Amino acid sequence: MTLNHFLNRVAARNPHQPEFLQAVSELAASVWPVYESRDDLVRNQILDLIVEPERQVIFRVTWVDDEGEVQVNRGCRIQYNSALGPYKGGMRFHPSVNQANLKTLGFEQIFKNSLTGLAMGSGTGGADFDPKGRSDGEVMRFCKSLMMELYRHIGANIDVPARDLGVGEREIGYMFGAYNRIKNDYTGAFTGRSVGLGGSPLRAEAAGYGCVYFVEEMLKTIGESLEGKTVALSGYGNVAQYAIEKINQLGGMVVTVSDSTGFVHDPAGISGEKWQYLLELKGKRYGQISDYAKLFEAAYHPGQKPWAVPCQVAIPCATLHELDEADARALVKNGCRCIGEGANMAATPAAVEMFRNSPVLFAPGKAAGAGAVAVSGFEMSQTSQRLSWEAEEVDRKLKNTMRSIHEQCMEHGKNGGRIDYVKGANVAGFLRVANAMVSRGLL
Ligand code: GLU
Repeated sequence: MTLNHFLNRVAARNPHQPEFLQAVSELAASVWPVYESRDDLVRNQILDLIVEPERQVIFRVTWVDDEGEVQVNRGCRIQYNSALGPYKGGMRFHPSVNQANLKTLGFEQIFKNSLTGLAMGSGTGGADFDPKGRSDGEVMRFCKSLMMELYRHIGANIDVPARDLGVGEREIGYMFGAYNRIKNDYTGAFTGRSVGLGGSPLRAEAAGYGCVYFVEEMLKTIGESLEGKTVALSGYGNVAQYAIEKINQLGGMVVTVSDSTGFVHDPAGISGEKWQYLLELKGKRYGQISDYAKLFEAAYHPGQKPWAVPCQVAIPCATLHELDEADARALVKNGCRCIGEGANMAATPAAVEMFRNSPVLFAPGKAAGAGAVAVSGFEMSQTSQRLSWEAEEVDRKLKNTMRSIHEQCMEHGKNGGRIDYVKGANVAGFLRVANAMVSRGLL
């Protein structure tokens, strides 16, 4: 079999899922030489097994809004791979959610979770529900209704959902509460809970901090650090907020934030009360990033993305495929040295190719963005022990995990004198799961 045969087979079985096919193509292209050289992997058809989710559940979610109108949404949970541990990954609430894009995220999550070195399989899920502009009561009723179905598929040793886009501490609290009540069982069926509900210190900060720790490691390989660097960043939600905080602590300066309407350019840097304001803004029902620009007299660029702003480091923290080939070209042309994805698959495949063929260091989200799920893994350990670790301990473990992922990328991503982080992350993530799958025998 050739790589093309394999990809044609996957394409035939998964029509109308271009993003999924792209994710599979990238992974398969990276691991193909290793795969072919391992008779045990080929004999067990591990690549064919790994692209097929173990289970997918799709269900109706019915609830009543504040006006008394009945609303119908669609919920989904994809239990992708359990070779390394219980299915593990976020729940995403966004109007764009569908089975195909959740499958793409779930596929990526296999390798991200594997890279953390923790005992976590891969799962992902969500609903086409838009929490934006909804009251607390509406969000609560939606979450409780969703759990009427989801509860039967999850559990501390089965599948442990967590935060993702549109799902934060509030939503996790409502879903976890419903789970406890329906199952009469107070165990760690969710991570990303508030500390008051048994969550881990630093879980909120984990994605942002982890990404910045990874970027520091990347910069170290070229004898540099974040100190004094100008950083362009997108988004202003959970990942962005704590990435900004950590960059400021390490002496860098973030000059952009964005939302779906446009981006703000603040050359004086986003820190102190401006950073505090971002946290408040996210909590507002109708807040927009242009409000920041008005308040702090910064430039607001409607309908644009921040990637043409000159910077040495770029951290996309907003959403899937937000950074395209033209954006990549602008970053390379302006002398950007290092890019770490805080959001899953933020760069399009063409943008990734451009980075890989340039002197820029580029790390994919499955490596640079693994901090969130790593601290979720720590939360699972704390829950099992019924103990809570100090924030300093979680931070130390998070830093070690990001360092270890970076080392794995260096080991498997050597490309002449350079490090190909895409290849390194794919090969290292793949090998750990593939070996576990072989050991378990065909299932
Ligand atoms: N959705 C986040 C991620 O992409 C977090 C998953 C988790 O904490 O389980 O890794």
